[in-house]
Amino acid sequence: MEPRLKAVVGSRMGQRHGPEHYDGSMTNPLSDASSRVGSGLRIGVLALQGDFREHIHAVEAAGAAGVGIRRPSELDDVDGLIIPGGESTTIDKLSRIFELRDPIKDRIADGLPVYGSCAGMILLADEIADPAKDLNGNPQQTFGGLDITVRRNAFGRQRESFETDLDFKGLDFSAGESGVDPVHAVFIRGPWVERVGPNVEILAQVDPDHASHTATLHGVARIVAVRSGHLLATSFHPEVTGEKRVHELFIRMIRGEA
Ligand code: GLN
Repeated sequence: MEPRLKAVVGSRMGQRHGPEHYDGSMTNPLSDASSRVGSGLRIGVLALQGDFREHIHAVEAAGAAGVGIRRPSELDDVDGLIIPGGESTTIDKLSRIFELRDPIKDRIADGLPVYGSCAGMILLADEIADPAKDLNGNPQQTFGGLDITVRRNAFGRQRESFETDLDFKGLDFSAGESGVDPVHAVFIRGPWVERVGPNVEILAQVDPDHASHTATLHGVARIVAVRSGHLLATSFHPEVTGEKRVHELFIRMIRGEA
C-alpha cells in the first residue's frame, strides 16, 4: 500500500472518531481554495463516526458552512447532508442511539440533497448484497433512498485499499483547455454498486485495465459513483485527497445548478 494511503487508512478510518472526539476546531488545509461556490449554504455532515472532519473541511473549502450533525434538531436548518466514510454498521447503530435514523430518512424522503461517500454510499443504498448481521442475526440497515444494490468491501480488505484515476461525469463546470481532468480516487474497503435502478445515473466506473492493483475486478468495470435526483454517492473518498470537484458537484445539486 502506498505510504500516503496507509496513513489515511490507519489514522482516519478507524473507530477512534467517535462523537466525543469531535472538537470542530481543526485547521483547514484547503482554506486557500479559490472556489466559493458554496457561499451562503449550510451543509450538515453526519458526525457520529468516520471521517466527518475531512468532509467539513471540504465543504468549507468550497465556501459553505460545514455543520457537524449529532442531534435531530441540527438537521432542521441545513441545505444538504453528507454521510461520511467510516463503518456503515457503526453509523447505522449510532444513528438509532442518537435518534437520527428516522429524521434522516424523513429528510431524504422530503428531497434534502444528500451525498454519501463509501460507508455513506452503503447507508444511502436501498439494498446491501451482503449485509453484516448482529448477534441476533438481524442484518444491518440503511437509510435508503437510492435505488441501488451495493456490495460491501467489494474490492477486498484493508490492505487491498488502492488509488486510481476515474473519468467522472457531471464535472463539466471544471473543464479546462484539455477537458475535464480525471478524478483521483482513494478506495478504502469501499463498496461497489452491483445494480442500479432505472432512475440512477452512473457517474464513474473503475476501469479494470487501469486498476491492475486490485485482483478483485476480474476484468469487469465496476460502478463507483452514482446520482439519482437529489442523492449522490461515491465508493471512494474525495474528502481525503483534496479533490474538491465532487463536493462542488454536490453544492451545485443543492443550488439546483446540476
Ligand atoms: N467497509 C466499510 C463499511 O462497510 C466502508 C469503508 C469506508 O467507508 N472507508 O461500512
